[in-house]
Amino acid sequence: MQDHLKQLSDHLKQFKKRASDSINRDDLEKLRVEFIGRKGLIASLFKQIGSLPPEIKGRFGQELNAFKQYAQERIDSISRELDSDSGTTDIDVTLPARLPLLGTLHPLTLMEREIKSIFSKMGFTIERGPEVEDTWHLFDALNTPEWHPSRDPSDTFYLEDGSVLRTETSPVQIRVMQERKPPIRIVAPGRVFRNDKPDATHSPFFSQLEGLYVDKGVTFSDLKGTVLEFYKHIFGKSVKTRFRPHFFPFTEPSAEVDVSCPFCNGKGCRICKRTGWIEMGGSGMVDPNVLNIVNIDPEIYTGWAFGLGIERLALLLYGIDDIRLFFENDIRFLMQFGGRR
Ligand SMILES: [Zn+2]
Repeated sequence: MQDHLKQLSDHLKQFKKRASDSINRDDLEKLRVEFIGRKGLIASLFKQIGSLPPEIKGRFGQELNAFKQYAQERIDSISRELDSDSGTTDIDVTLPARLPLLGTLHPLTLMEREIKSIFSKMGFTIERGPEVEDTWHLFDALNTPEWHPSRDPSDTFYLEDGSVLRTETSPVQIRVMQERKPPIRIVAPGRVFRNDKPDATHSPFFSQLEGLYVDKGVTFSDLKGTVLEFYKHIFGKSVKTRFRPHFFPFTEPSAEVDVSCPFCNGKGCRICKRTGWIEMGGSGMVDPNVLNIVNIDPEIYTGWAFGLGIERLALLLYGIDDIRLFFENDIRFLMQFGGRR
């Protein structure tokens, strides 16, 4: 007669072992169905009570009830452990949602887009060329002789096969003039490379944008008008430009372009170093030698070109005092730029 109680105690042992082996929801659900489910073991044992000998009925019933209660509590407790492992009970649905971190455009991308958009409206198309150039496109075709300092390996990165990392975007002008006939009206933005030690105002790589306009009857006053119009868009309508004579191998005559300081209206401040003017880049009429090299007749066509530094403009407009910030990928810096206008 004690067999029934012995069996019950074996069932309990088995349940305890199965319970401690239950490591996931599937295990636990199987355990629940098998032991305390409507057609489970405990339910079937309850049905047997009626056929048991009277002397053990009472005790069997008590122990079975205790088993049932224990099984229910143990399964609930394992269920809570599984919940807290997966963190589902820790969710506070009243907390504000964590928003995804949206990126922003890099300040140099914003600057380049703004510049390109101004020139696009003036009828210029955007052109790009290779960053690794041959010396013919970078130097010879641009009227830069062997002895010129910009060809020196101490200033320029040469590769083992004799090609170079371009020191300016001007070879794009050569490539375009070789392929097309005037009228040509392009701007070429892109990265350039020079052997400069990085500091607050220098970087071994930076980006330039050059413009080129070649057609019949193009004059220096077209250059002045276009450049002034561009800087008015950038700095505001009251800005003035000044052209100072200079020398560049591929333009003749050549000039440096200065812009009246938009921060002090030309009165003199820290940014313009008390001069009232800020140097922006080179310009000039395309040298007839360069036109001859690309088979454009300088007796029929004339052209002008100018260049500017994209970082330089961004430094001024965003009020940044160290060019290295653009290249350090510090997200605290980069996240501050959501567009200038
Ligand atoms: Zn100033």
